[in-house]
Amino acid sequence: MPKKKSQEKTSQNKKLNNDEKELLSYKEAFRFNRKAFLLLYKRYPQMFTSSIICVIWDALTPYVGIYLSARIIDEIAGSRNPETLKRLVLYTLFSAAFISLVTALLSKWRNNQESGMYFKVQQVFTQKLMEMDFVNIDDAKTHEMLSTINQNQNGGGWGLYRVTGNMNNLISAVFSLLGGAALTVTLFTQLVPEDAGKLTVLNNPLFVLVIIAVMLAVTYIGSALNNKAGSYYARRADAHNLGNRLFGFYGWLGYQQELAPDMRIYRQDIICDRYNSDKTSTFGSKGIFARYARGPIGLYNAASAAIAWFLVGGVTVFVCLKALAGAFGVGSVTMYSTAVLSINSGIATFFGTVGDMRNNASFLKLIFDFLEMPNTMRQGFRPVDKRDHWNYEIEFRDVSFKYPGSEEYALKHVSMKFGAGERLAVVGQNGSGKTTFIKLLCRLYDPTEGVILLNGTDIREFDYLEYMAIFSVVFQDFRLFAFSLGQNVGTKVAYDSELAGNVLRKAGFGERLDTLEDGLETYLYKDFSKKGVEISGGEAQKIALARTLYKDAPFIVLDEPTAALDPIAESEVYSNFNDIVGDKTAIYISHRLSSCRFCNDILVFHEGELVQRGSHEELCKETDGKYYELWNSQAQYYNA
Ligand code: ADP
Repeated sequence: MPKKKSQEKTSQNKKLNNDEKELLSYKEAFRFNRKAFLLLYKRYPQMFTSSIICVIWDALTPYVGIYLSARIIDEIAGSRNPETLKRLVLYTLFSAAFISLVTALLSKWRNNQESGMYFKVQQVFTQKLMEMDFVNIDDAKTHEMLSTINQNQNGGGWGLYRVTGNMNNLISAVFSLLGGAALTVTLFTQLVPEDAGKLTVLNNPLFVLVIIAVMLAVTYIGSALNNKAGSYYARRADAHNLGNRLFGFYGWLGYQQELAPDMRIYRQDIICDRYNSDKTSTFGSKGIFARYARGPIGLYNAASAAIAWFLVGGVTVFVCLKALAGAFGVGSVTMYSTAVLSINSGIATFFGTVGDMRNNASFLKLIFDFLEMPNTMRQGFRPVDKRDHWNYEIEFRDVSFKYPGSEEYALKHVSMKFGAGERLAVVGQNGSGKTTFIKLLCRLYDPTEGVILLNGTDIREFDYLEYMAIFSVVFQDFRLFAFSLGQNVGTKVAYDSELAGNVLRKAGFGERLDTLEDGLETYLYKDFSKKGVEISGGEAQKIALARTLYKDAPFIVLDEPTAALDPIAESEVYSNFNDIVGDKTAIYISHRLSSCRFCNDILVFHEGELVQRGSHEELCKETDGKYYELWNSQAQYYNA
């Protein structure tokens, strides 16, 4: 590899290595985990109940078998009473059968409740996105945040998904600890007989303290080592995410049919190969995570496993010596050893889970930053008076607007009024502020300065959804869904088919509709139906126009509605425009002036300002005006 390239890579990797995430304090970690738990619990209480009951059951039931086996072995090694043995074997069989049956039923319940867990978690985000102010949804930062949340979840399993698992582990740890402790009590209370000689020293209460102290020390050190290993992944989540993104991009580029021609013409496969064969990439054999696995992560995990065996060895010697000295039978040796190990693994799981919850907390924080993004647009409560259906008047009073994060004004000091039933055209060059004007009118954004009034009332005072309901808009970059044609037009499952058919014909889709075998039930695109139809850009525009008409809102806004139509279809829309729009107030946006001539009132925007207003004839008379300039510059192409 050329020296320069390898230097570039090394510096990239260095940057990633230094990009460590700070862990939150235990207090903060507890707060975020609690919040996340409550958030999920409120939505899916049954899922948690079933899970908790299963975990407790699974943690406690093994002790029944351990206890009964110990009793059987003791009996065999001791008095060998056939009646007692028979009873013990029957208890063992029945309890095993009963436990298996209940376990199966409980698991079924839990699996049922946990099915679709992924979607349940995703629903939390989807709902937030649906309710979010448009200003936030339109902000690249929001998408970056959501994408990071998803990558954390899909790549490392961090986030809400982990909360249920951690909660289960915590409960399971506590119960195996309690179960183990209950069985272990007699290990200390059953004393070595006085005639056992030197071994009577085992009766010294100091042994209890020493065993408990060693157990705590071992589990604490073991889990601390484990957490230390886990924290490498948590703190390098950004590197992990970037690695996933790069892999997701380069790794699958060859799969994308639409990119295939460009890939071949411009030999983009070389870039992919370079990435895919780069051993120093995030997941490569010389990458950051491979180095961790060979280095600190591997060492910490190995040390944690090794240290646990000290405890196992120590306890086994203690238990065996006590049995040898006659404190209890041989059957109890396995029981006590297993019970002490359970306590040990309970404590280890407990500490390990607490550590994992702390590692997860910074990912939860990001999730709550997203979920708690404030909604400021939905604070008005005033209803929009339906009796005034056709008597609305809109006024922009000295409205200026900057997009969030932008220094430039997209609209400057716009003042204008328009009333019901008008045909308003909004023209201007690309970037002059036409779409922004519409977005403010529909309250997708609120003005930075100035105020917009509906019948004299600031539109922020109205109930947000009620206000929005008075507009029907075909945005420039509208989207149709892969549902049936009728559902697209009616925007609901149970739509009025007669009305949907009528508005489609009005919008010029009649002839095409007649050719569709399944009529309104025809699916658009092939996502959900093999019989789905592909539609052209022009046909999509007609369907979108029909959708605005179906909504039957008093204001209809069409942003470049004929851009994808052929000239004949476009002229059809113009000549039928009055018929199509009826007595609604219509706002028609275009950068092609010829398409606005039929509107009696034309607003001319230039660099965010409303520079002229009038009819085509009036504006043409202002020969030093923007409209005249635009008209002439465009007219030469039509004439030609
Ligand atoms: P038009 O509809 O006349 O083509 P727009 O209203 O879309 O113009 O854009 C007006 C100005 O606002 C342009 O300078 C454009 O770059 C800017 N703009 C549009 N949308 C955004 C956005 N989401 N964020 C930042 N700036 C934007």
